[in-house]
Amino acid sequence: MESIFVNNEKINVIVKNSKRSKNVTIHFEEKSMIVKKPTRISLKKVDKIIKQNMEKIAKLYLKYKENGAIKIKYKNNEKIMFFGNIYNIKIILTELKNENIKIKDNLFLIYTSNTSFEYIDKLVKNYFTKVLTEYINENISKYEKIINVHVDKIKIRHMKTRFGSAIKAKRSVNFSTLITMFKKEVIDSVIVHELCHLVYDNHSKDFWNLVYKVMPEYDEYKKWIKQNNKYFNI
Ligand SMILES: [Zn+2]
Repeated sequence: MESIFVNNEKINVIVKNSKRSKNVTIHFEEKSMIVKKPTRISLKKVDKIIKQNMEKIAKLYLKYKENGAIKIKYKNNEKIMFFGNIYNIKIILTELKNENIKIKDNLFLIYTSNTSFEYIDKLVKNYFTKVLTEYINENISKYEKIINVHVDKIKIRHMKTRFGSAIKAKRSVNFSTLITMFKKEVIDSVIVHELCHLVYDNHSKDFWNLVYKVMPEYDEYKKWIKQNNKYFNI
């Protein structure tokens, strides 16, 4: 199946094999429907699953169009969210040695020697990685104490659809550069979520009890993420 019609709109279907997927998952990205499947599941089976779930898919697509983020292009005056504040992007051409990112008033200043999307995208993600690493290093120990866990390894990498992940056995946590856009208390809620996974390796009732005990306002932060979804577009 190369494309489907959802509410009379033709949408490309991109099927990807994923070693990590346990189930077939569907999400929308840049006007395409991305279907991730475990390698063992055949394309024929995927077609069948899609056909059986058209109603759900239509609802999902509607939601995507409502909250869906338009991918950032790094052009002047475009909006970017950073630690919960919204800034206007300003691109300033400079020499390689002067490349930098600075926040001034309502401006997100990008000093770059190259104005291509890929180049600036890397600059911004590197900057996000740097500031997020600093923020997490400064704040994680507070929650380690409260939850009574010890983290051995913290990794920051870019993940589009997940804010974080954790491996209990290795006492390691990963965070997406994307969360640098969140306001600080919401970043903390992601930290708490992942640290609680070092206690419970699942989303059991015990897991959620612990999350809400540490952070009673957790749902507020979840709501904030939903409301601001359109900014999380890097
Ligand atoms: Zn989780």
